[in-house]
Amino acid sequence: SPVLELEDVQFAYDDEGPAVLSGLSLQLGEGELLAVAGHNGAGKSTLARLICGFYRPTSGRILHRGRDLAGDTIKERSERIGFVMQNPNHMLSKTLLYDEVALGLRLRGVPEDEARERVLETLRICGLHPFRSWPVSALSYGQKKRVTIASILVLDPDILLLDEPTAGQDYRHYNEMMEFVLQLKERGKSILVITHDMHLMMEYAERTVVIGDGRVLADAPPATILTDAELVRRASLRETSLQR
Ligand code: ADP
Ligand code: MG
Ligand code: MG
Repeated sequence: SPVLELEDVQFAYDDEGPAVLSGLSLQLGEGELLAVAGHNGAGKSTLARLICGFYRPTSGRILHRGRDLAGDTIKERSERIGFVMQNPNHMLSKTLLYDEVALGLRLRGVPEDEARERVLETLRICGLHPFRSWPVSALSYGQKKRVTIASILVLDPDILLLDEPTAGQDYRHYNEMMEFVLQLKERGKSILVITHDMHLMMEYAERTVVIGDGRVLADAPPATILTDAELVRRASLRETSLQR
């Protein structure tokens, strides 16, 4: 069975309000990198929040390796599903980078020796090793974004959900982030990346799912999606736009 499967998921934030998702189905395969696109407000971040259990679908099912997640708490899901949110939060902290990334392992009672090894390896993968004794507050926006990914990655989740990981990155960090995503994929992680970035899709994704009107508008290889001008418009797909 797929690593992650959504079956006919419906959802509204408010009982009287409009449906954000109205029968959405998609699958994430083992070791796959799936890009999820859609216009602003299409429900991409909502989809990620439902998978993590922050909200419950009105109807439909979310399955992890064939098992319905409905009975699992946010904490239980977080052991298997790492969610890197769209906006890095809590990043004013004076905590040292090393301690920030080690926090999750310490909370889980992982022995300090093992934690140290895992944190340092993760910092290397994320290109953050040189900054390990910096306060998080001194890092650039792009680096902070990677700190949020490192904090999730160090816990070795089965699935990674990345919500617009390359948004707001400067040129150098954009490239680092892309290389980083590639390494995660090569390590066999199953990854769902929410993105508007055509280059990321073409370079790294096997498949792109475009959502709109609360459902899946298209599910195809990125090259197929990108040759359909109407889909490109509906999904607000963009070439990489770099911040200078
Ligand atoms: P995307 O990530 O694709 O830009 P979102 O999932 O953030 O879209 O939002 C989908 C829709 O749900 C939008 O209409 C948005 O205004 C609405 N929405 C998002 N978060 C909330 C919330 N916490 N409460 C009520 N409505 C929300
Ligand atoms: Mg948005
Ligand atoms: Mg969003």
